[in-house]
Amino acid sequence: MDFHWLFILVFILFSQEDPFKEERHEMVKNQLERRGIESTSVLNAMRSVKRHLFVPPQSQKHAYKDSPLPIGYGQTISQPYIVAYMTEIIDPQPDFKVLEIGTGSGYQAAVLGKLVKEVYTIEIVEELGNAAASRLKSTGYDNVKTKVADGYFGWEEHAPFDAIVVTAAAEFIPPPLIKQLKNGGKMIIPVGSPFMTQMLTLVEKKGGKPITKTLFPVRFVPFTRED
Ligand code: SAH
Repeated sequence: MDFHWLFILVFILFSQEDPFKEERHEMVKNQLERRGIESTSVLNAMRSVKRHLFVPPQSQKHAYKDSPLPIGYGQTISQPYIVAYMTEIIDPQPDFKVLEIGTGSGYQAAVLGKLVKEVYTIEIVEELGNAAASRLKSTGYDNVKTKVADGYFGWEEHAPFDAIVVTAAAEFIPPPLIKQLKNGGKMIIPVGSPFMTQMLTLVEKKGGKPITKTLFPVRFVPFTRED
């Protein structure tokens, strides 16, 4: 037996199992750590979730680039740095129950799923919601529950939430979401007019009241409402 060939065969098998591992680790180093993402657990989650499985096949080779990517129906998966930032700022703890509005590809939900006990995510575009649900199931994120609905109303049945992540730009913070946030909990949400730059806003609920802090300008797809 020629061990040289055996070695090559084993190498091919292993490299095909996770062909983007190196790119993903580079993404974490160059795009996240360099820009100040510090949480070890968030960095580990970003290192382990296979972002290329959440983008259309023709975009897989671009999955680890420093940019958002189209996912169909005029929607986008956010830039890795924005996903990491929004995840880190809610300070996810292992016993948390988190609500996400705007499932999209399911990527942000998967990252959250690595860090907290339960994730509830709502998508308004049925096709995207269904595709994300089966993707999350096949990739093993059993602690992520999905629903197709207008996220404006939150998910009353599972409220209150320790944290809420909104990944579509709203003109104002939906009152039902403030209501469903635990006292002491944090919500991160882009606020502003659609198709323009919005302000990423951190909401902390204290004594039943939302305290808001604007962070930096961002560009998200619009928060839409059912007609
Ligand atoms: N978090 C996603 C990015 C989603 S882009 C990811 O990781 O891939 C924003 C998503 O919000 C889009 O899919 C859009 O359809 C959805 N959306 C917009 N308005 C919504 C609403 N009112 N309720 C639920 N989802 C909404």
